[in-house]
Amino acid sequence: MKHTKKWKMNMNDEVTGGCLCGDFEYRFDRKNVISAHHCHCTDCQKSTGCGKATIVIVPTAALETKGALKFYKVKGTAGSHISRGFCDECGSPVLSRIEENPAVQIIKAGSMTDSSWLEISSSIWSDSAQPWSPVDDRYPASSGNLQRS
Ligand SMILES: [Zn+2]
Ligand SMILES: [Zn+2]
Repeated sequence: MKHTKKWKMNMNDEVTGGCLCGDFEYRFDRKNVISAHHCHCTDCQKSTGCGKATIVIVPTAALETKGALKFYKVKGTAGSHISRGFCDECGSPVLSRIEENPAVQIIKAGSMTDSSWLEISSSIWSDSAQPWSPVDDRYPASSGNLQRS
């Protein structure tokens, strides 16, 4: 189901992305990125099927979306409530929202059309990293999560 809504914002450093089938798309300005992290939490491992999720934190006000996602809500390890958004059609995990912090959204880096520019700030939940997907020692690592740090 393709959507027809037009993008509204003007962006200089536009980043686009979306799910695998293209039913859900987003865009934001690269300048608005707050930070990016490798998340080794076990929920990210389960929901991506990978050793970690690389996530990009973007202000909600700076993010434009087209199409709809389905959300699966879980209680985060720090007591917050995380809504994990995925495409109903192709199943791609695209972005997550923290109920207690609606000002930001957490985008899966691999869903961006071009993610080569991304700079990683740190690794989080490094204690639950798997031996086959170790914490990248080029970046600072913390065992806590976004709510605590
Ligand atoms: Zn899709
Ligand atoms: Zn995680």
